Amino acid sequence: MLIVDDSPTFQSYVSALLEDAGFEPIVFSNHAETIDFLETKPSLLCSVLDYCLPDAPRGEVIDTVLRAGHRAIVLTGNSDTNLREELLQKGIVDYILKDSAVSLAFLTPLLTRLVHNMNKTALVVDDSSAITQYLTELLERFYLNVITASDGMAALEAMEHNHIDIVITDNDMPHMTGLELTQHLRMEKNRDELAIIGLSASTHSEQIPQFLKAGANDFLNKPFNQEELYCRIHTLLDMQDARQKLYFLANRDELTGLWNRRYFFNFAADHPSNSKTLAIIDIDHFKKINDTYGHEGGDNVLKVFGKFLASAFSSALPARLGGEEFVVLSTGNKDVFLAELEAFRVQTENTPINYENQDIRFTISIGAASGSDQLPHLLKQADNKLYAAKKQGRNLLIL
Ligand code: GH3
Ligand code: MG
Ligand code: MG
Repeated sequence: MLIVDDSPTFQSYVSALLEDAGFEPIVFSNHAETIDFLETKPSLLCSVLDYCLPDAPRGEVIDTVLRAGHRAIVLTGNSDTNLREELLQKGIVDYILKDSAVSLAFLTPLLTRLVHNMNKTALVVDDSSAITQYLTELLERFYLNVITASDGMAALEAMEHNHIDIVITDNDMPHMTGLELTQHLRMEKNRDELAIIGLSASTHSEQIPQFLKAGANDFLNKPFNQEELYCRIHTLLDMQDARQKLYFLANRDELTGLWNRRYFFNFAADHPSNSKTLAIIDIDHFKKINDTYGHEGGDNVLKVFGKFLASAFSSALPARLGGEEFVVLSTGNKDVFLAELEAFRVQTENTPINYENQDIRFTISIGAASGSDQLPHLLKQADNKLYAAKKQGRNLLIL
């Protein structure tokens, strides 16, 4: 992050704000220093620029930074409409008024949004190539990945082959209207998974509720401005991220990152299968590991073991049932799966986990059950086999 501002108070305030949010600020006080710095071809996420500097009183530093191919957010004490227009025309990401701490509080969420946008893809649907070009430019400036389609059919096709997070669609298009496209998309994906913004130049007031009722999350009238577009996308994608975070919190095991018990049972209920094999894996004498290496040492074993399990059974469904008990559900070939389980048992026996310069060695017992029975029944059978494996001396797979 590049910060250019001539006020030392402001420099330290903004630097602290950005450092707290995990960014690495580089600070300069004037235009000349900034020019020298940009000659070194730095790699920057974005720059935060004071409009008025002693050696650049009319925003010259903005042109310098934009010409070097970097993104810019402008800090200004002036809320004049003409200046605002002029700045946005230049191609900045946004401007922030220096009038209060409240305005500045917008800076970190905006930068965080830019970082997260790098992992998001937008699909722009419009039959006017001028509009798709304009939107692409704006969205890419906002660090979004962009795919374009010139009509609804092409949009549906693009949805098949790409992971899309947000669709921005015009309404008046040949073959299929944006409204119809929205209805199609909603049959596949709900509002949490895919955000849709409708666009239209129509003056009919019913178009907004129609779009929203068809499942659009939001609506923009054409012509729209960059600020309005960014604000709406920012809100929608923040909401999408928050829901995903919530979903992960509810369905992932915090320690190992594996799916948790709740997810495992929900998934199995939603994906019934006639032929499945289920394995319960339990670490042998885990209490002893805790006793010898402390609870943290035990946690470390669970964490690393979780990673091993996830990578060994990436094509099946591995999860943590609780404590030192794990489960893997496979719908693939039973014999292949059993051979993989046996190999995993041997690998675990032969792979000590390093913790604070000590090698922790341990083994696992596995109980497996196979067939078309309901999941609770299979679990019970697998648990009985696990009990038998423990009784027969542990470090054993029993089907
Ligand atoms: P067995 O071979 O019969 O399975 O013996 P065991 O000691 O592995 O099994 P037992 O079920 O008697 O003990 C499991 C221990 O795992 C008891 C509990 O304190 C510990 N444990 C459960 N959850 C966690 C955890 O999240 N972290 C750590 N460090 N220990 C845990
Ligand atoms: Mg155990
Ligand atoms: Mg146990």
